Amino acid sequence: MTGGVVSSLGKGIISASLACLLKARGYRVTIQKFDPYINIDPGTLNPYEHGECYVTADGTETDLDLGHYERFTDMRTSRANNVTTGRIFKTVIEKERRGDYLGKTVQIVPHITDEIRRNVKALGNTGDYDFVITEIGGTVGDIESQPFIESVRQLRWELGDDSLCIHLTYVPYLHAAKELKTKPTQHSVKVLQEVGIQPDVLVLRTEKDIPADMRRKIAQFCNVSPDAVIQSKDLPSIYKVPIAMHEQKLDEIVLRKMGLPTDGEPDMHAWNEFLRKMDSAEQTVRIGLVGKYVELQDAYKSINEALFQAATYCDRKLDLVSIHSEKITPENVDSLLEGMDGVVVAPGFGQRGIEGKFTALRWCREHDVPTFGICLGMQCMVIEYARNVLGLADANSTEMHPTTPHPVIDLMEEQKSISNMGGTMRLGEYDCELRPGSKAAEAYGANMVRERHRHRFEFNDSYREAFEQAGMQCVGRNPRTGLVEVVELPEKRWYVGTQYHPEYSSTVLRPNPIFLSFMRAAIAR
Ligand code: GLN
Repeated sequence: MTGGVVSSLGKGIISASLACLLKARGYRVTIQKFDPYINIDPGTLNPYEHGECYVTADGTETDLDLGHYERFTDMRTSRANNVTTGRIFKTVIEKERRGDYLGKTVQIVPHITDEIRRNVKALGNTGDYDFVITEIGGTVGDIESQPFIESVRQLRWELGDDSLCIHLTYVPYLHAAKELKTKPTQHSVKVLQEVGIQPDVLVLRTEKDIPADMRRKIAQFCNVSPDAVIQSKDLPSIYKVPIAMHEQKLDEIVLRKMGLPTDGEPDMHAWNEFLRKMDSAEQTVRIGLVGKYVELQDAYKSINEALFQAATYCDRKLDLVSIHSEKITPENVDSLLEGMDGVVVAPGFGQRGIEGKFTALRWCREHDVPTFGICLGMQCMVIEYARNVLGLADANSTEMHPTTPHPVIDLMEEQKSISNMGGTMRLGEYDCELRPGSKAAEAYGANMVRERHRHRFEFNDSYREAFEQAGMQCVGRNPRTGLVEVVELPEKRWYVGTQYHPEYSSTVLRPNPIFLSFMRAAIAR
């Protein structure tokens, strides 16, 4: 899957939609993304650069498209599903130092492209999949993408009919001229052809319907069969894209071109039921999301989607209100939060916007609004409670105030000797044992759960008794280390904080139970 003309056309959504359809036809499918930047992974990028950092169960910090892959297919991705230029180069340079290429000049072609090809084929070679969809990040023609595009060319030769290239481009609509324009698509296909790649399928992203004769014209100019030129028109929900792709037979075209049977239909029963709920919901649930990146559409992607899924299963439309934590003050908090049925306090790093989170949490606690703190949001719940209920006025996290007299949130012991920033947090899935009868245990209907993590700081256990006596219960703990994973205020309607990130494991067909529980509480209020 390559992309042309501009970025952000939704290669990830198209890849995920195709995977969703193939899976619904009974195939075993995975999707991987190759990102043409030098960072080893996106873990060190801030959300302004790259949106949310998605965390896989095996503890890899990855591109947010992997979140779409999991949400659309229920598959579990891993380190192998997201590879960057940085990782490719690092491996090749390490091999060079080891002497694996002894005597040879190490070059982009063949050494870097060989390493890319090895990675592209790695998941397929496990034998676990019938299809591996490989999304090449960036846009064809970018300097950064060239080694990847060259590897695609080589792979097409190597794999022959066992591979095909889907190219996603943009057909802009010029409002002044009232016309759709195909030229950028022609140009971007030319760029592919110049490097020796003939796309088999063209998916055209568009705001308006592209007439059949225009599609035929594109087919003709681009050497693609007319039925393999399909449109991807803007839709009100990304979850409708698989259906739109099926209506235009994307799955069938792919199967036919690969010489596989095209009879039968994908079983989209449960998916369609989700869409039916989404479309028929009349009442609205209003959730406030407090964070410092709320102005960025993609910064809290997985949380937005998990909330949306939960609202849909509760037969509600989600009205998600972004509340910038830096703008919350004791004077305006009333007017900002008054109309919310529930409030989520987002994950994050660093001091900026932190006081606004405390102010919001105090207001929510005192007004008994269903409140969900995730990771830093949970840590803020603990700090706010320490300051305003335990009377520890200077309580803080040592992340924000290294010499605070009351470090109720503190650096994890295992983190103290770590100086490298990349990939060194406590990452990925860990067990969490829940106290029977707690809101969290009721939500999951289980006393042992596994969720994903991404943090360096933790609840300081030496304050646990003081918190529990005052009312904040530590109801979730790691069974091996005792690390506090979940806190809650049992006397409140729903006031729960999780050190882990339940949003990463919430999918369309399996919404995360704790989001559902939060949503029900918000609706009940
Ligand atoms: N900054 C906090 C920590 O490192 C929380 C991280 C997060 O919210 N993902 O522990």
